[in-house]
This record gives sequence, structure tokens and C-alpha cells, in this order.
Amino acid sequence: MKISEILKNNKVTVSFEVFPPKEWGKLEHTRAIVSEMAKSNPAFMSVTYGAAGTTAGFTSELAGAIKESGVTPLSHLTCLTSTKDKIDSVLDDFAAHGVENILALRGDIPEGFVFPDEQHFHYAYELINTIREKGGFCIGGACYPEIHPESKNRVEDLAHLKEKVDCGLDFLTTQMFFDNEIFLNFKEDCAIKGIDVPIVAGIMPITNANQIKRSIELSNSSVPKKFFKIMERFGGNPDSMKQAGIIYATEQIIDLMANGQNNIHIYTMNKPEVADAIMKGLSHIINE
Ligand code: FAD
Repeated sequence: MKISEILKNNKVTVSFEVFPPKEWGKLEHTRAIVSEMAKSNPAFMSVTYGAAGTTAGFTSELAGAIKESGVTPLSHLTCLTSTKDKIDSVLDDFAAHGVENILALRGDIPEGFVFPDEQHFHYAYELINTIREKGGFCIGGACYPEIHPESKNRVEDLAHLKEKVDCGLDFLTTQMFFDNEIFLNFKEDCAIKGIDVPIVAGIMPITNANQIKRSIELSNSSVPKKFFKIMERFGGNPDSMKQAGIIYATEQIIDLMANGQNNIHIYTMNKPEVADAIMKGLSHIINE
């Protein structure tokens, strides 16, 4: 099913993200995680694309596993280090695995990277054009409530986001954020700018003390004082921290929904029990 159809009815949706392993030997384990997560009945499940496309085959395999488990898959795809021919063959592979939905991304620029030639991509919008020309896919893109780290300011970031959406995006998914005010302001700015596709809010449950440092480094997200207090108090006890992280994420989602945000994407970090606990905490709300 196309995600544009899933998002179109103004109903509450909660979807999950999984990431592929780095080695083939661990693929079966990740497949098992996928089928465990499918039991929580997410609206759809996304599978990330390894930096530099080194694990492209794993993404399509897992997308196929998501589909087999009865859930709509969304395959991420990055373009920075690929030629147009390589992207064309990955799109064929996705289609062969029953993938109808792609999150079209540029990918982070590796240190010292030099853009090779015209056959390579520079920005996500070029990938979006390529996928659209190929036809048949519902296309999503990334957005950044706290602006993308390479952008000078919000004006520039939103201008590029608008151009990207106008290339033919069906929906956007946000970078993780921990402060709902930031997201709600961003959503308003998008509306003012005429960005009118559904925006899916990305929520990362922080369930252990090490994860927060890495998550902030990777995402550039600001963390509210309230969350640091939770870390200080419970960070040393893994069970307490996990419980607190699940409750914080659940409360964050409830507050978003109370403010009119219906579409939530959970960065599950491949933890089915965390995803399931959040879904259980929202059971009546999801089925409203
Ligand atoms: P773009 O939309 O191309 O934007 C990148 C930067 O270029 C921005 O600063 C933008 O403002 C600027 N820009 C855009 N167009 C122009 C233009 N015409 N001229 C000048 N500047 C321009 N990475 C992975 O490797 N694998 C994944 O699976 C993955 N999944 C992700 C999922 C989500 C929801 C998010 C938010 C990010 C994900 N990423 C992933 C990270 C992503 O690849 C990086 O954040 C990357 O640096 C930017 O990708 P983009 O698609 O947003 O790029």
C-alpha cells in the first residue's frame, strides 16, 4: 500500500523504523526483530539505508520481510555516493521486493568527500526527480525541525525544503526532536511556506544513558532540561532508565496528538519491547 494513502485520512498513525545489520550473518536476527515488531501493528515500518549504500541489499531484504509480516514497508535510499545507474538498479531491486514507498535522502557527506562527476547526485531533490521519472513509487523526504546542520538559517533551510517537496514528495518525516514546541513551530513555518504534504513526527525513545549522547551528536537535537533531570536521576539504573524513556516518549506523543499531530514515527533502535510498550501506552488513543 502507498503511504500517501495511509496518511490521507486524518487518522492517528504510529509507524516504526528499523535499521539493517552490518553483516549478512545477522540478517536473520533482524528479520526476527521485524516479525516481532509487526505484532504491535504499526501503520508502516521503515528500514534505513546504510551510509554510502554499502548494505543496500539488506534494506531490500528487510523491506521484503516487513511486507511478508503483513506491514507496509518504507525503504530508505541515499544517493550521495551512487551513480544514476546504481540507483536505477536499487529501484528495480526494491520493486522486486514489493516496495512501493521510498524515503529519498541525500546521505551525510563523508569527511574529505569530493563530488565525482555529473553522474553523481548532490542533493536529495535530484534523487526525488530520478525516482519520480522511474514511476510507481510513493516518495517521502527528510526534514529538520532544528534545521539541517549544513543550512545557514531557517529561511534557507525552508526554501530548499519547499523546492524538494515541489519535486514530487508525498510526505515528510522529521529528524528526531525532544521538545514539542520546536516541532509545532516548524510545522507552522512549513504551512506559511506552502509546504502542504503530511509531516510525520520522528520520536526517539531514549532508553539508556549512552544513547542520548550519540543521538544528540548525530541529530543536532536540543534536549529539554526535564529530560536531563530524568537522565541524572535514572541513567545509572538500566531498568529505571528504560521505563522512564518509554514514558517520556509516550507523553511526548500524547502531547503532540493533543496539539493536532496525528502521524508519529518511532525510531525503535530495533527494540520490539520498547515499541510495543509505547503502543500499549497509546492503545485507546490509536484506535480512537
Ligand atoms: P537534502 O534535502 O539534499 O539537504 C541537505 C542539505 O542541503 C540541507 O542543508 C539543505 O538545506 C541543502 N540543500 C538542499 N537543496 C539545496 C540546493 N539546491 N542548493 C543548496 N543547498 C541545498 N542517512 C542515511 O545514510 N541513511 C538513512 O537511512 C537515513 N535516514 C534518515 C531518515 C530521516 C527521517 C532523516 C531526518 C535523516 C536520515 N538520514 C539517513 C540522514 C540524512 O541522509 C542526512 O541528514 C543528510 O545530511 C541530508 O539528507 P537530506 O535528504 O535531508 O538532504
